[in-house]
Amino acid sequence: MYSKILILRFPKTEIKKPLVCTLAREYDLIFNILNAGILPRKEGYMVLELSGTRKNFKEGLQYLKSQGVDVQNASQEVKRDESVCIQCGACTAVCPTGALAIQRPEMAVTFDQTQCSVCELCVPACPPRAMRVRPTRQSFF
Ligand code: SF4
Ligand code: SF4
Repeated sequence: MYSKILILRFPKTEIKKPLVCTLAREYDLIFNILNAGILPRKEGYMVLELSGTRKNFKEGLQYLKSQGVDVQNASQEVKRDESVCIQCGACTAVCPTGALAIQRPEMAVTFDQTQCSVCELCVPACPPRAMRVRPTRQSFF
């Protein structure tokens, strides 16, 4: 599964078209809308997390661009949901920077975000999905 957080800007002529629903229906992509609105000049914007196979992702993006939608990658960060983490330590085996580490002798799994390179390897490695990719800012405009 390939996943990215994207910022879409829609020309005002395209605002009412169900372009994102088409991504789900025609390209089998899963979307999660994180933020959306209308800009002063009437263009629409949307920040969404889009997931699917790489092939479908690429084709879905080509479809959006063919409809005049501007697509940009959102700057991202990885956060740990402390209420979900079970301290199993699986993430420390894949983390290349040491941002996730086991603190001895307590054996607590620590997360130092300042050392995180946002490589995203820990996201699929975490059994309960406590590690999550998020845009660095909720408001982009
Ligand atoms: S995103 Fe990469 S660097 Fe950051 S905590 Fe996860 S595995 Fe470590
Ligand atoms: S793999 Fe997930 S649940 Fe396990 S310690 Fe790491 S963040 Fe917590």
